[in-house]
Amino acid sequence: MLAETIKQVIRDVPDFPKPGIIFKDITPILLDAELTRKIVNDMAENYKDKCIDAIVGIESRGFWFGIMLANKLDIPFIPIRKKGKLPYKTMSYKYDLEYGTAEVEIHEDALQDNWNVLIHDDLLATGGTAIAAAELIKMQNANVAGFSFVVELDFLEGSKSLSKYSENISSLVH
Ligand code: AMP
Repeated sequence: MLAETIKQVIRDVPDFPKPGIIFKDITPILLDAELTRKIVNDMAENYKDKCIDAIVGIESRGFWFGIMLANKLDIPFIPIRKKGKLPYKTMSYKYDLEYGTAEVEIHEDALQDNWNVLIHDDLLATGGTAIAAAELIKMQNANVAGFSFVVELDFLEGSKSLSKYSENISSLVH
């Protein structure tokens, strides 16, 4: 099964980027072109009839499969980046982290009114990052059509905080 293969290929890196965190490294998936293709095809199958107008990917690991999926579905890809990285005029959203705050941005002309937008990132933990993406989509008068992740850390219950934006939350492995 695809989920089992993905679990075996993902590398756990203990104590990165700080003590106590087990970092789920998805880069080994990208070393395997056939597995990468299977994942993109599997995701595309899931979304092909869902009337998604665009995919928003979150810097930077959300770009990897986000771009491939958007291309497979033949729809636009839009990056959300950390503050100060996007060259044109932006809208930004600030949110709390465990210690301090983070701010993410989207180009102000990136989305069209009423577009149904799928948010993609490599991993769902507490949900704070995905919520920031959802807020940016709403600021541009577009709709959050759902959330797509490669990995979801169920014990952090991030999906609970996302359900007020969309019930369509899909993760390849848990
Ligand atoms: P959160 O906002 O708490 O849901 O955290 C999700 C964001 O942080 C995603 O962009 C992930 O790439 C990153 N992240 C958080 N925890 C991990 C982890 N254990 N392994 C890999 N990435 C993580």
